[in-house]
Amino acid sequence: MKNSVVNFLPFALPEIGDEEITEVVQALRSGWVTTGPKAKQFESDFADYLGGGLEAIAVNSATAGLHLGLEAMGIGSGDEVITTTHTFTATAEVIRYLGADPVFVDVDAATLCIDVDAVARAITPRTKAIIPVHFAGRSADMTRLLALAKQHGLKVMEDAAHALPTTCDGRLIGTLESDVTVFSFYANKTITTGEGGMLVTRDPELAKRARVMRLHGINRDAFDRFTSKAPSWYYEIVAPGFKYNMTDIAASMGIHQLKKANAFQQKRAHIAALYDEALAGLPIVRPPHAAAGDVHSWHLYVTQLTDEAQVSRDVFIERLFAQGIGCSVHYIPLHLQPYWRDTYKLTPEMFPVSQRVFERTVSLPLYTRMSEADVARVVAAVKVALG
Ligand SMILES: *Cc1c(COP(=O)(O)O)cnc(C)c1O
Repeated sequence: MKNSVVNFLPFALPEIGDEEITEVVQALRSGWVTTGPKAKQFESDFADYLGGGLEAIAVNSATAGLHLGLEAMGIGSGDEVITTTHTFTATAEVIRYLGADPVFVDVDAATLCIDVDAVARAITPRTKAIIPVHFAGRSADMTRLLALAKQHGLKVMEDAAHALPTTCDGRLIGTLESDVTVFSFYANKTITTGEGGMLVTRDPELAKRARVMRLHGINRDAFDRFTSKAPSWYYEIVAPGFKYNMTDIAASMGIHQLKKANAFQQKRAHIAALYDEALAGLPIVRPPHAAAGDVHSWHLYVTQLTDEAQVSRDVFIERLFAQGIGCSVHYIPLHLQPYWRDTYKLTPEMFPVSQRVFERTVSLPLYTRMSEADVARVVAAVKVALG
């Protein structure tokens, strides 16, 4: 039956305009296709977008940015990093890249973001850092989390893969007192470069380390300390670095996507509001909103079936697909994934909120190219699927 659905409404779609296409073609014709002037411009545009006074380092994925961030903080074997179980595996895998151990905590039912009280309970003498996730584009309680981190001398790296643009207490994510913030430009994120990410920091030493490790551990500044006449071919390897640089092809997209970020957010917020209104009265819990006065990026529209719903989550999703509606689950919590579950002896009882949400959650399609008719079609399909 699924194959007979001619007009499938996907879960997510990027919006790429002529500006992006022209810029990419220009990069291709220029002959400079890897990291170069476009990547540099994207970095400086991004720093300006956040209000300046910080460094933006373009990378080829948010995962790469998260890895570089932890590496530059000096996280290593024997260290613990506290994060949420209710996230994508990339948030936690980077901790293992460095031989450190993630300590998973539950989420706050009101925000689906990391539970700050649970973080406080999880701190041990080995704890070095905390990675909050701005789930679905709603900011975590950064004010309390940053205060807790300061009190215990812990680093904070925000996984802001969902959070462009999102605000917390009126300030854009990326501009808070965290040590590092990392954004994602993966295909389904609020802005995209196909694959890509941006590491943001106010710490010049941390930025320097991340830039060196982004490209093989190459340091071109070393020579300049001794002479201003460093030959163009000279470089020094100061560490076994990574290959995490962003290409100018990707950056060409990013330059124009960034200009549209606020307009995209407004479209997404409009679609979320349409859903909120249309789903009222149905056995569906609508997503947490931003705190009063704050911006929600609306990367995802994450619903939950209530106890009154006459259908299981799995059957509900099957029925939506049968009607040609793409949807998704955010997330299968990490405590249920074999690697994390078995390595760290995790059980559902340790994460009651995340577990409960997982069993009922469905993310509905939300992207800027959706029309009001598309939203109405999803809502009609939801009503059918509820039975
Ligand atoms: C998408 C995502 C990432 C990884 O982003 P990439 O750019 O694909 O590496 C990390 N964390 C979260 C929460 C994400 O949704």
